[in-house]
Amino acid sequence: MIRPRIALENVANYKPGKPIEEVKRELGLKTVYKLASNENPFAPLYLKKAILKELADINRYPEGTCFALRQELAKKHKIDPDCLVFGNGSDELITLAVRAYVEPGDEVVLAYPTFLIYEIQSRLSEAVIKKVPLKDRHYDLEAMAAQITSRTRIVFIANPDNPTGTYLNHKQIEDFLAKAPTDVLVFLDEAYFDFAPKDFPRSKELLSRYKNIVITRTFSKAYALAGVRLGYALTTKEIAASLNKAREPFNINRFAQVAALAALKNKVFLKKVIRHTTLEKKLLYAGLKKLRIKFTPSATNFILVDFGGPAKGVCDYLLGQGVVVREMSGWGFPDYFRVTAGLHKENEKFLKCVKQYIVGAGLACLPVRQVPARKE
Ligand code: PMP
Repeated sequence: MIRPRIALENVANYKPGKPIEEVKRELGLKTVYKLASNENPFAPLYLKKAILKELADINRYPEGTCFALRQELAKKHKIDPDCLVFGNGSDELITLAVRAYVEPGDEVVLAYPTFLIYEIQSRLSEAVIKKVPLKDRHYDLEAMAAQITSRTRIVFIANPDNPTGTYLNHKQIEDFLAKAPTDVLVFLDEAYFDFAPKDFPRSKELLSRYKNIVITRTFSKAYALAGVRLGYALTTKEIAASLNKAREPFNINRFAQVAALAALKNKVFLKKVIRHTTLEKKLLYAGLKKLRIKFTPSATNFILVDFGGPAKGVCDYLLGQGVVVREMSGWGFPDYFRVTAGLHKENEKFLKCVKQYIVGAGLACLPVRQVPARKE
């Protein structure tokens, strides 16, 4: 038998939200609404022309440097093009950071729970993982700073966070960076940046002040390109050079490069997405409140819902109705689920099904008793 590395024994497979195709196949449903993976509900069909044009060249490898996209993003962020690194989704940038900076036995500091890929990649690199519990569903940066030792190589910060949807403002991040040793890489994962509020950290200022940070963004969420996979990092030239050494030469495919370039130019689509998400989140908040279900106000395109008791039943019921949400037991939150703000009709169906479940399961007064209504 060929024995895999022992590190793999400590790694649980990442369980993504169930794909629409799989739910349709398994449950024999015709219509499935996926509100489980924080995706954009709008398909960017305006990209058809750019994608079709690129088709003529897909027999050739893509430009490994992502030249045109690099120039465009450098201009947008007013940054040296060499300070950018591209990843096959921002997921890959997490992988690259661990690959480039963590030796076996080095320490990595994470919140718990938070985005799962930090832990998976750190385990694969045989890092010692220090998990710092959230404080009332927010990152506890003081406790995280206290976990940093001379062996710490990376601190991962999802901002806004997944699965809670909470965020850290400029001052909170700045205070943390001022305390963090300069030989520790602080990885600021800003996948939901486009949905974040005004007092969100100002990346340009942070990048000019701190030389030990990586800020990542993605085209998967607000730009609706999850299916082509493209994320990027803003950092120093030195860190970018190290991350680039760890990356595969053609990690960004041709379609991703042209789609992102065209997406950057389409401000109307982006505005529509932000406006829609803000509005639909408000409607979801109102619907949940009406059902007396608690939730965490979110700086993202999803909401963490506290069902006030085991959430598996309601998640299974929703699935049976063709509405896929994300159960949170894998994150250590068995009473919670996460729902993405989808199209208006999808969100309406979600609320309707939750109500049906509560009534049908005879829980009509349970959430009221268990979960006193509170101000959000
Ligand atoms: N970071 C966070 C916090 C996320 O929630 C996600 C997506 N679920 C990612 C990174 C990765 O996104 P992508 O690889 O699609 O860019």
